[in-house]
Amino acid sequence: MALFKCKMCGGNIPGVDGAVFGTCESCGTTSTLPKANDEKIVNLFNRANHFRRLNEFDKALAAYENILNEDNANTEAHWCAVLCRYGIEYVEDPQTHERVPTCHRTQYASILTDTDYIAAIENASDRYTMGLYEAEAKKNKRNSKRHPRNFQPRGAF
Ligand SMILES: [Zn+2]
Repeated sequence: MALFKCKMCGGNIPGVDGAVFGTCESCGTTSTLPKANDEKIVNLFNRANHFRRLNEFDKALAAYENILNEDNANTEAHWCAVLCRYGIEYVEDPQTHERVPTCHRTQYASILTDTDYIAAIENASDRYTMGLYEAEAKKNKRNSKRHPRNFQPRGAF
């Protein structure tokens, strides 16, 4: 059985082989999972997510691109590449304990037109998973509009 790390908090998500979503044991978030039965891909994901949670977006993006080189139809890798490009950190709200996506990078194009986002939606294996991605993307979009001051442009973007 593969053990995935939560995108939001890094907690454990027990993954049934082949499952495309699961629930975190620590924060209770139901999130999309990489469709990976391959131990190598699972390890690449956990490594990439580790960098992303440290806001090392370039290192994380390179790791997700490695996954896409092996499996270009990997929905979750496309989605996580989007998170890196937009520099999205899941910050815990101290009052509600809800994880709120916060953008660290300025992107002028909408997340909904990002090619990796579109690839993620196109490759999503079922309606429920597709809905999880769409809901998360809308949340990110809404949040970036509401907190324009949080943007810290850096790098080549
Ligand atoms: Zn979690």
